[in-house]
Amino acid sequence: MINLVIYGPPGSGKGTHAKLIAERYNLFHISLGEFLRKEKANKTDIGITVKPFIDSGELIPDQIILNLLRKLLFLKENKIGVVIDGFPRTVEQAKALSNILEEAGHPVTLLLDLDVNKTEYLKRIRSRANKKNRTDDQHNEIIEQRIELFNKNCRGVIRFYKRRNKYKRIFAHKDKEFTHMQICQCVDPLLKL
Ligand code: ADP
Repeated sequence: MINLVIYGPPGSGKGTHAKLIAERYNLFHISLGEFLRKEKANKTDIGITVKPFIDSGELIPDQIILNLLRKLLFLKENKIGVVIDGFPRTVEQAKALSNILEEAGHPVTLLLDLDVNKTEYLKRIRSRANKKNRTDDQHNEIIEQRIELFNKNCRGVIRFYKRRNKYKRIFAHKDKEFTHMQICQCVDPLLKL
């Protein structure tokens, strides 16, 4: 059983790489952002609750997000583990994730931190905004708000996983293939491939 977390600033490619490794290693992919956007588009009760937070680039309160995460983890079927993107974003969420997974007997194996500089991830957000029609990618103030929250929390989150020897930095400035290859070099030994 392996439980991976893909971490990084907005626009770093968390969703893209989580999807790629989920397919490659038969892992269950949990994308909090994607799930929330679907709920929002379908105007479900959850969607209506989270809309103001997403639209302003704020974090959704932990009580809501943790309930969702528990439900999503429960859906993992017969996969050999999970890959989570968009969670954790704070030390409190990292602690909560440890508790949830340790209760289930399978703690986080590794956090893969996609290291991309601001110029590059801003470029990616701009190109994604048009292709994916994401409202939170279309306004500079909302993008800046998400970056600020990331910068505020990232040191704590990184320290949390480094202290537990569960941290790998991935050089993610170049193309998708090169990033994917580095991620595989970290994951293969976990599966003894
Ligand atoms: P990005 O990383 O590019 O900001 P995501 O798709 O991962 O995009 O997240 C979009 C939005 O969903 C966030 O701005 C936030 O409002 C909400 N969200 C996603 N994950 C979390 C989380 N772990 N805690 C709180 N809010 C979250």
